[in-house]
Amino acid sequence: MDRLACNVVAPEEAEAFVLRAVERLKQLGMRITEPRRMVLKVLATTRKPLGAYQIRDRVLESGGRIDVASVYRILASLVESHLAHHIGAVDGYLACSSPHVEGEIQHLICEDCGCVEELSMPSSVSRAIDAALGGTGFESRVTRVEVQGVCDHCQSARAQGRKTRQN
Ligand SMILES: [Zn+2]
Ligand SMILES: [Zn+2]
Ligand SMILES: [Zn+2]
Repeated sequence: MDRLACNVVAPEEAEAFVLRAVERLKQLGMRITEPRRMVLKVLATTRKPLGAYQIRDRVLESGGRIDVASVYRILASLVESHLAHHIGAVDGYLACSSPHVEGEIQHLICEDCGCVEELSMPSSVSRAIDAALGGTGFESRVTRVEVQGVCDHCQSARAQGRKTRQN
């Protein structure tokens, strides 16, 4: 995982995501259309969740053609294929960065820079959540947690800022 800077995705990492995603879609019997490939490429290059309109704009900027309705359709299929996640707290879409196929993950959302990190969730946590549901009659399918806070990069940046102000 890149700990050097916020929202920096190495080109080889972005490429690896697109390759992995294309492989998964093929396995699922889905066609690798050009718009689908372009949406994957946009998601691959950022750690900040993007809305459908932002994704459309980036595809257009890179010389592609796509409309927002197609972006939404493609995003829905990527979320269903576990290749992207919808991050509710910021209403945006993020490439999946871990090899899980089902559920137990947590997303750490930085309120300063907007970058999101994906971590797997210890099964003890999902068990605790399931136990807490006991008696409600609710049947859980996927446990996904969004944690809001400040990433380590932004914490160092804040500390630096304090130092400069003091000097
Ligand atoms: Zn960060
Ligand atoms: Zn994921
Ligand atoms: Zn941050």
